[in-house]
Amino acid sequence: MFHVEQSYEVIVVGGGHAGCEAALACARMGLNTALVTLDPSKSGEMSCNPSIGGVGKGQLVKELDALGGEMGKNADYTGIQFKRLNTRKGSAVQSSRCQSDKKQYALRMQSVIAATPKLTVVEAEVKGLNVEGGRIQGVKLRLKKDGTLASVEGKAVVITTGTFMKAIMHCGPTTSEGGRIGEAASVGLSDHLAELGFTIHRLKTGTPPRLKAGSIDFSKMEIQGGDQPPRRFSFADTKISLPQVPCYLTYTNAKTHDVIRENLSRSPLYSGQIKGIGPRYCPSIEDKVVKFPDKDRHPLFFEPEALDSDLIYPNGISTSLPPDVQEAFVRTLPGCENAVFARHGYAVEYDCIDPRQLKKTFESIPVAGLFLAGQINGTSGYEEAAIQGLLAGINAALQVKAEPPLVIGREEGYAGVLIDDLTTLGVNEPYRMFTSRAEYRLSLREDNADLRLRKHGVRIGLVNAEDQKRTELKLARLEGAMKSLHTQKGRPTPESDAYFAGHGTQPITFPQPFHHLLKRPELDLLDIDRLFHVELFGTLTDEERETLEIEVKYEGYIAMQKEEIARLHKMRDVAFPVNFSFDLVKGLSIEIREKLNRNRPRTLEEAARISGVTPAALTTLVHQIRSGGSRAHTGTS
Ligand code: FAD
Repeated sequence: MFHVEQSYEVIVVGGGHAGCEAALACARMGLNTALVTLDPSKSGEMSCNPSIGGVGKGQLVKELDALGGEMGKNADYTGIQFKRLNTRKGSAVQSSRCQSDKKQYALRMQSVIAATPKLTVVEAEVKGLNVEGGRIQGVKLRLKKDGTLASVEGKAVVITTGTFMKAIMHCGPTTSEGGRIGEAASVGLSDHLAELGFTIHRLKTGTPPRLKAGSIDFSKMEIQGGDQPPRRFSFADTKISLPQVPCYLTYTNAKTHDVIRENLSRSPLYSGQIKGIGPRYCPSIEDKVVKFPDKDRHPLFFEPEALDSDLIYPNGISTSLPPDVQEAFVRTLPGCENAVFARHGYAVEYDCIDPRQLKKTFESIPVAGLFLAGQINGTSGYEEAAIQGLLAGINAALQVKAEPPLVIGREEGYAGVLIDDLTTLGVNEPYRMFTSRAEYRLSLREDNADLRLRKHGVRIGLVNAEDQKRTELKLARLEGAMKSLHTQKGRPTPESDAYFAGHGTQPITFPQPFHHLLKRPELDLLDIDRLFHVELFGTLTDEERETLEIEVKYEGYIAMQKEEIARLHKMRDVAFPVNFSFDLVKGLSIEIREKLNRNRPRTLEEAARISGVTPAALTTLVHQIRSGGSRAHTGTS
């Protein structure tokens, strides 16, 4: 028999990256919050790679930080190598990544949770949900300490069960139940979600073996250092205090590929044992060898798992091949001839829901007051999970407080792109973020995430006065510097003549506004100070100078994006009337009609997001809405 143990304002289920952010957000917003998780000593655990950020993902971490989340701060305090990626490419695609001390990352997150008032950690497995009249009432759980079944009331519930629902791990032909090595699967919850009307999909992900550092000859690999000085993720006053260490680069070779090819029939991926769909953009090594037969080598980064650990994470060889094959192919890698395995790689199949059953607040459509976030929504990756957890937690808390929700638009942040892609298009493979998914990426950069999103964090009460002030001062400095660029002029100097001659570009012969001069590719703000004998920009931070330079150098493109966004805003509010039937719209192709019926967009903006829905189709839809046609016959009046 279930009985009421206690009640909370919000119950968060799961202590992964999504769950930690959701629970912290709710408690920090003043709500009495329970974080129910299978094993609290694993909260904040990195299931796979010991790193935070990466291309497209770094932007998510910065946005999460701007809104008042924890991941960016945690990454700064526990990072052991920081690197800016894509620095030779355009500003729109540059992202930050850090190598984390995996142990310290989880421990610090747990200590932040423990120190947060109004947040209670409950060690238990949630077996089902209490729903009455289509609204969540709480959860049914089994307490870990004594196996007691309990019913806990909650005004809102956030589920973040990651890769654990009905999870099966595969290592060669061997299968076992479990969401992560050494941890049990969550059984019962996904069946219950199906009973409540959720569509359940099966996805798959995988992890490489872990190797003993002492058994690897790093002298045969290329050393990969971090940036000096390292750049923090957080806009708050965090410190990078851990020692910084290198990673190493090596490559697969013909022998590696031969071993893998010869043993493909023993891979659960190719034998038909694994049915779930894996991440296309983070494939296993057996997938890479099969799908890219022309590539004679694949790069592998050997990353330390923690400062006080002997474990190496070989990034790039995720695999579920049997242990003997893993050992054989790893030992073909330069430097790994005598590699000792601490753990073999494995794949995990798990249940997730169809995210099109979510509103843009992450509240579920089938059950009011129930929010879902993280890998359960079909995504892959810590950063994708964390931002969803933060936003689901925020919206659960806002709903309980009867305040307006927070929805980030695609034009406002990568967070908005993720929400929109998930809830409009759904997923048919694990979804990860890329810069190419964000059509306004030139405006949605890491350097301006605080300028774009801090205001929301302030409104909901997650950003403290000190951090708010920091953003206001930054904005004031940027505005002041922009004014100087427009109002002050550079006159030719011997230094400027020599500089332009050295670059083979035209010297300036008459005074020109700095704003105009900065558009020259060979000039940056510090050059302007130096060449024209002014002291205008030296006091800005590196990040502030970067923001200003991008805004001026790409002014034309950014202005075009702003115009497009303004047009989008106008269109955004055009909603399809209730009972609007796409089948009755003349002039739509069968393919577009099918896509619209499948995705059921609520607005024209959502329709525009569906791949294959052309501008011409949108124009047809606008006309149809305006003419008041295409109402399906419902039999009622
Ligand atoms: P998780 O981190 O999985 O956390 C889920 C939490 O829910 C856990 O704390 C668990 O204890 C708890 N829980 C589950 N069920 C219940 C229940 N019924 N009651 C109470 N608590 C419950 N990402 C990548 O980006 N690249 C990769 O290569 C990659 N490889 C991966 C390989 C493996 C083997 C695994 C397991 C994951 C991998 N991931 C990878 C995914 C990454 O770990 C996740 O995207 C991320 O951790 C998801 O965060 P989350 O918070 O949604 O869930």
